[in-house]
Amino acid sequence: MRYVSTRDEKVSVSSAEAIVQGLSHEGGLFLPESIPSVSLDEIGSMASMTYNERAKKILPLFLTDFTAEEIANCVDSAYTTDNFASEKIAPVKKLTDETHVLELWHGPTCAFKDMALQILPYLLTTSMKKTGVDKEVVILVATSGDTGKAALEGFKDVEGTKIIVFYPCDGVSGIQKLQMCTQSGKNVYVAAVKGNFDDAQNGVKAIFTSAECEKKMAENKKTFSSANSINWGRLVPQIVYYFSAYADMLSAGDIELGEKINVCVPTGNFGNILAAYYAKCMGLPVNKLICASNMNNVLTDFIASGTYDKNRRFYTTISPSMDILISSNLERLLYLLSHESGEVAGYMAQLKESGKYTVSDAIKEKVTECFAAGCASDDEAEKTIGEYVEKFGYTPDTHTAVALNVYDNYVKTTGDKTKTVIASTASPFKFNAAVLSAMGEETEGKDEFALLRLLSERSGMKAPRALSELEEKQVRFADVFEKEKMIDAVYSFLNIE
Ligand SMILES: *Cc1c(COP(=O)(O)O)cnc(C)c1O
Repeated sequence: MRYVSTRDEKVSVSSAEAIVQGLSHEGGLFLPESIPSVSLDEIGSMASMTYNERAKKILPLFLTDFTAEEIANCVDSAYTTDNFASEKIAPVKKLTDETHVLELWHGPTCAFKDMALQILPYLLTTSMKKTGVDKEVVILVATSGDTGKAALEGFKDVEGTKIIVFYPCDGVSGIQKLQMCTQSGKNVYVAAVKGNFDDAQNGVKAIFTSAECEKKMAENKKTFSSANSINWGRLVPQIVYYFSAYADMLSAGDIELGEKINVCVPTGNFGNILAAYYAKCMGLPVNKLICASNMNNVLTDFIASGTYDKNRRFYTTISPSMDILISSNLERLLYLLSHESGEVAGYMAQLKESGKYTVSDAIKEKVTECFAAGCASDDEAEKTIGEYVEKFGYTPDTHTAVALNVYDNYVKTTGDKTKTVIASTASPFKFNAAVLSAMGEETEGKDEFALLRLLSERSGMKAPRALSELEEKQVRFADVFEKEKMIDAVYSFLNIE
């Protein structure tokens, strides 16, 4: 299987090359030139498999240049019960006959990014070996919170790699900062940058594109890479859990083999829901994909109108991981629906120039055939948290609450009774204050750990150890840099003169 670029189909690389390169040279995203299919019999046979066995069926269909042994090694290193607090890795909770919640947050950082970032380091180091790149990989991340921590946990102590994370001084929550500053591992470094997320991001971009820096890195047998969500190595592991959810529902007797399900996903960068779309194209029986947004509802409008327009107010919400106005992975969907890289390159040029584009009627028609969409305000998400706690004794986090709200409205307006998988993307304990206040608790003046204990009492769930143990952990990283000094911090950590 070869990989092409969304902006130039003449580009042709192997999956290992796509993972090492991350982004195609003309700015497009890599994707496989065709979509492999999985038969119903094969899906049926997954019912009795473990998560890792299911992953070993799906991943080789895309990573055709990897050996079975290499894939098994990646999968079994990532999805262990040391790293995940659930033996099922991504368990499905049934709330009603129709409502099934796919919990993607049992990994080490309690958010769904772990599903991909636990395995990416192994996919990347294996890809480096396969493509003959004999250098140490240095992962450089600017983070607004979740991605940095998930990347740190994924890459810590992975041989042949180092990871450096910069977070903005004034831009991450207390618990997120603690999660990063107490990070363990011999190959990790974390520092704060004075300023906001854009300052950190621009600093990292400047380092990535500095010719002098590249030369010094090469002299020292090192190379930079990114753990960004546009890397194919982050997307492909996400396809697995949709097959896994279906297989779990089969094995529980909740659906018949071949019965179609809906999938509802709280969406930001469009990676998670795109993985569900891939699963559908591969043959997973899926009816509608329901795209749920918060008040940053650029995708809701796009799916309704065919016009993508990022020229709008940016809202800071209680579901911060979805506070995004440019959903990078949508570019892959546009390519899949048009198969014309020239057309996609045109839309992306318009987006860059004027912040908006309108897709062709052909694309729009296909989008509305597959996708439904909706959005929820903070108030609506909070109300949904209260309702799910009361009705089902189930405490969703703020991102999952957006999806549940949009799903409930979808059912109300369409009457569609298709059984639905709702992707749950974070543990409620990661967003204690918002979840507790939705449950009617006073959170003012309580510290993060008091909130953890209170939520544990109220939800009847144990707080994830990864969060409660932060209280006893030593802060290892307290450096703060001006944006211009980030490069010196990098050289110093890497022992480069
Ligand atoms: C990243 C993230 C999302 C958005 O996922 P995309 O793949 O970017 O659409 C949703 N919820 C949580 C908790 C996240 O961390």
